[in-house]
Amino acid sequence: MSFTPLGLSSSLLKAVSALGYESPSPIQAQAIPVILSGKDVLAAAQTGTGKTAGFALPILQNLQAGQPARANQVRALILTPTRELAAQVEDNIRGFNQFLKLKTTVVFGGVGINPQMKRLRGGTDVLVATPGRLLDLYQQHAVKFEQLEVLVLDEADRMLDMGFIHDIKRILKVLPKKRQNLLFSATFSPTVTALGESIASNPVKITTARPNTTVAEVQQRLVNVDKSKKVSALTTLIKQQNWRQTLVFSRTKHGANRVATRLTNSGIPSAAIHGNKSQGARTRALSDFKDGKINVLVATDIAARGIDIAQLPIVVNLDLPNTAADYVHRIGRTGRAGATGEAWSLVSADELSQLKDIETLIQKLLPRETLAGFEPSQMLSETRLTAPKRPKKPKKPKGANSESF
Ligand code: AMP
Repeated sequence: MSFTPLGLSSSLLKAVSALGYESPSPIQAQAIPVILSGKDVLAAAQTGTGKTAGFALPILQNLQAGQPARANQVRALILTPTRELAAQVEDNIRGFNQFLKLKTTVVFGGVGINPQMKRLRGGTDVLVATPGRLLDLYQQHAVKFEQLEVLVLDEADRMLDMGFIHDIKRILKVLPKKRQNLLFSATFSPTVTALGESIASNPVKITTARPNTTVAEVQQRLVNVDKSKKVSALTTLIKQQNWRQTLVFSRTKHGANRVATRLTNSGIPSAAIHGNKSQGARTRALSDFKDGKINVLVATDIAARGIDIAQLPIVVNLDLPNTAADYVHRIGRTGRAGATGEAWSLVSADELSQLKDIETLIQKLLPRETLAGFEPSQMLSETRLTAPKRPKKPKKPKGANSESF
């Protein structure tokens, strides 16, 4: 199937083809006609499915038809959980907008507010924003919503996990009631569903893969290893398997720093990326990783969210995440756009309960392996598959707020 029958204008079709997209992904094929028709949408889609084009292309087309934004006004607002994702989404939109004349802007925290205020002065057709900075700008009258036509909540599950619900509610209160609402989320917990139902009227529900399942293309490997040997085992794996571009997840910021330093000292160029790093340091680490100047990026869940690297081959869980849904998010970084990827988890005996939660969520037992020279002194106990649980709100780990965006 090509993009032509979806009802997009020739300028957008030209942009899509200039970007090298030949056929729409499943989420695009379903979402584009529905969004063009002005309906509300609740869509289950992970990063990597092409969801950004799925909402951005029809939004741009609909915006083209209306009046341009007046001073400080915004016509389409896209909320994202992290700065990285905001920057990435706006970057994608600029690509789609290359043959149109719509104005796009991105704003997020951690950088000066004044240049953002200046950019918003003339009005913007599309604004991509993280919730906290958007509220700051609104309070300073730098952004106004009288002309708002469409709201997108991108990665809604992650925004809720990160505690943005109050910010989102405050934003919703100041938006015009009559607007199109689009919500995208990798997982649909009861809280995400409740948020979706509270904003959308008569939404079209779109699912392209079963929510809460892992992408079929990802090969999942589990290595049972002692906790104290994890970093050495990782170093050995990277060298043995000759991994080039590896994204390693660490549960803590300090852990991420320590691992990046140890890997670098072992001759594997690495960098850490997390909320304590300046925006400049994070952008630099990401571009060095993309360009192959460093082989390994060690990231916390929040910082890794939305990192879009085409066909990331290897993802490693150095520790299992606190919530099983995060496992799905993490391994969703690989095996994108039909490419095969590998997700390796280094699991120690004390992580049994997280492992059980993951296996229950994905409804699959992960076969255990050991690595020669790193046989564990404490074996992981056996697990059995149980019926899926109703997803519950993840408990906030201590200090969860310390990763501020
Ligand atoms: P997303 O899920 O929106 O983050 O997109 C994931 C990646 O797939 C991005 O690098 C997009 O540029 C790319 N992409 C999106 N749609 C298509 C398509 N129809 N054909 C090829 N690549 C695509």
